[in-house]
Amino acid sequence: RPDIPCRCTWTLGESKPSPHKCKAFPREKKNIFSSVLDAIGDTPLVRLDRIAKSCNMKCELLGKCEFFNAGGSVKDRIALRMIEEAEEDGQLMQGDTIIEPTSGNTGIGLALACAIKGYRCIIVMPEKMSLEKENVLRGLGAEIIRTPNSASFDEPESHIRVAWDLKNRIPRAHILDQYRNPYNPIAHYDGTANEILHQCDSKIDMVVISAGTGGTITGIGRKIKEKLPNCQIIGVDPVGSILALPDTLNSTIKSYKVEGIGYDFIPTVLERSCIDKWIKVDDKESFLMARRLMREEGLLCGGSCGSVMVATIEAASSLGSGHRCVAILPDSIRNYMTKHLNEDWMIDNEFMQLSPDKYPICLPE
Ligand code: PMP
Repeated sequence: RPDIPCRCTWTLGESKPSPHKCKAFPREKKNIFSSVLDAIGDTPLVRLDRIAKSCNMKCELLGKCEFFNAGGSVKDRIALRMIEEAEEDGQLMQGDTIIEPTSGNTGIGLALACAIKGYRCIIVMPEKMSLEKENVLRGLGAEIIRTPNSASFDEPESHIRVAWDLKNRIPRAHILDQYRNPYNPIAHYDGTANEILHQCDSKIDMVVISAGTGGTITGIGRKIKEKLPNCQIIGVDPVGSILALPDTLNSTIKSYKVEGIGYDFIPTVLERSCIDKWIKVDDKESFLMARRLMREEGLLCGGSCGSVMVATIEAASSLGSGHRCVAILPDSIRNYMTKHLNEDWMIDNEFMQLSPDKYPICLPE
């Protein structure tokens, strides 16, 4: 059980979180921020005309650039919100320790807030996640524990089980628990979704969102369906994961290299009923598309942005001109400087090949 009892509950099937005070939108305009935490949220929505044109799309394509958040990802929003709510509940106090199992970005958001607020921060993260994330976490003063990729979520060595064991051994330690904390989806229900509705004047036909914990897609999906019931919500799940529906889409269960999305269990905060359609995307197409987003649109984005854009191009090809599709772009290339940004890494992993004159190229299958 989460050790921090929430005032707010948001159970499956309920359309609205309750009791719940909308926070994070509209954000107070400030010329000078009190701290860098004020630079979380209010991210730019950017027209992606070049990719749209090169992929023969008729509709308008927009990218919600979550890598502009202070810690570099969409997860800064939930990290801050979960901490603020636990503080307001009187659960989290000076001198306490925050522990979290994470694929890295929630950890970076938490470590950033802990650096400013003065909490000790311990992040438990599978080996698969990049060294860049680990270095950023260390730079923010977090302690890091790595767990084997091979451990499934319920095994004692999994990042989730290791974090809970640690919590039981450290006095005044808390796990905010992004997999179950209602303020994970609520941060997006209040913040990200309202921003998109406002930025688009409530004219949106489709939103494409990747799922890890499912907080982003559940929060945005619920708010958008409330306001625009005909807007389609498209879920993105990597090949190898089991989050997609129908289950037949998940016939291949295997490890994959894209970070932050997909799981081998269904997190409590993922409410799959608000998702109209799931699209599975594999590593190679994700990384090649992430590189294209950089080359064609100048977006310094991470691998899951590539997965989202591959799914967007597939799903939004059914939309005609005058329609609008928003793709959520979760994190930045900073996390992957030695991974998909690096041509040698792309070649070593067989996502690119060397041409006869030794120039790295991407050949069709
Ligand atoms: N992309 C990246 C890079 C992430 O770190 C995450 C968070 N795990 C996601 C997408 C998915 O976000 P969520 O946990 O809200 O489903």
